[in-house]
Amino acid sequence: MLVSPLQLYIHIPYCIHKCHYCDFNSHVREQPDWQAYQVALISELKHWASQPAYHHRVLHSIFIGGGTPSLAPPSLIAAILACAKQCFGFEKDIEITLEANPGTMDVQAFQGFYDAGINRLSMGVQSLNQKELQWLERIHSSDEVYQAFDVARSVGFQNINLDLMYGLPKQNLEQWQASLDTIIDFGAEHLSCYQLTVEPHTQLAARHATSPYALPDDDLSLSFFHHTRERLADAGYAAYEISNFSQQGKKCRHNDGYWLYHDYIGIGAGASGKWDDAMGATHRYSNKKSPESYMQQVRTCGKSILSDEILSLKKAAAEAVWIGLRRSQGIDGAWFQQRFKQSILSYFQQDLEPWLQSGHLIWQDKKLQLTDKGIPLTDAVASTVF
Ligand code: SF4
Repeated sequence: MLVSPLQLYIHIPYCIHKCHYCDFNSHVREQPDWQAYQVALISELKHWASQPAYHHRVLHSIFIGGGTPSLAPPSLIAAILACAKQCFGFEKDIEITLEANPGTMDVQAFQGFYDAGINRLSMGVQSLNQKELQWLERIHSSDEVYQAFDVARSVGFQNINLDLMYGLPKQNLEQWQASLDTIIDFGAEHLSCYQLTVEPHTQLAARHATSPYALPDDDLSLSFFHHTRERLADAGYAAYEISNFSQQGKKCRHNDGYWLYHDYIGIGAGASGKWDDAMGATHRYSNKKSPESYMQQVRTCGKSILSDEILSLKKAAAEAVWIGLRRSQGIDGAWFQQRFKQSILSYFQQDLEPWLQSGHLIWQDKKLQLTDKGIPLTDAVASTVF
């Protein structure tokens, strides 16, 4: 049986303001009960550490996401990391990422997170244009991005990601080119560039339905996409995933683990986890989303499951293809065969053949990969396996 590296995701669900485009599990609370949330996280972590599926497995990466994790007291982060280390142990070069909002950070907080053991920061910048930031309803200004980045460097962070968004209403290619050039000048080790999408059930979706925004058409979206890849390649950032770019040796180990179908534990409100059992079945769970319901249920039984399921081998195989095609290196055929007992094509030949014939997909060096022609159509190609 294949045993994958093990990852831990910790969800901090609180935000100062709900951005209108956001469909993450984030909640605005005037004064979060940090002490109670810390107690719940530690109880849940101990619960999962006691499960046979996770016995004797050290952690390969940790990602603290949200919400706005940089609102949390550094002492909470330190306590959770200490508990995780005690329960599982850490690989020697473990990657530990914290998501940070530039509007919530100060020197003391950055220093506290660094001292707690965070060795990678992921900053939600989204834009450096003040008007765009206001439209996005971000709580930070462009000046605060520069200040936060400088402070992060000054306290010792040598591995920083900046999250960016393109395809905003009325944004043209020249504006995005200028933003990208400015961002490149920061010299961050990693950049994530996503196109704005109108997610269902967000405030943005409701506003867009009554008074549509001038969002880019397909041609302009494709221009944004291609320009981003070309400009970042010139600047030394390799596209190792559809929206993620890194300098040499700096790809995000944690997110890459999701695309490689590794096992992970998720703790916190709305978090989810996944493990493969000895028979090859894939188990998955998701936690209750409201922080209050989450904490209350963890108090009574150590976990707070909203839903769980066991995936059939074929469904798990489809999921591994769907997610694995996002990686530039594609899916390793030998790994797939060992994990899912049959080759990719014996499961999905009928679904994938048209894409292979049309040159959107290629099978080479025992890997299934999207071609340059297929990359912009990742979702369409990958979802044919379902
Ligand atoms: S800061 Fe991030 S998580 Fe919070 S509401 Fe805005 S987009 Fe969502």
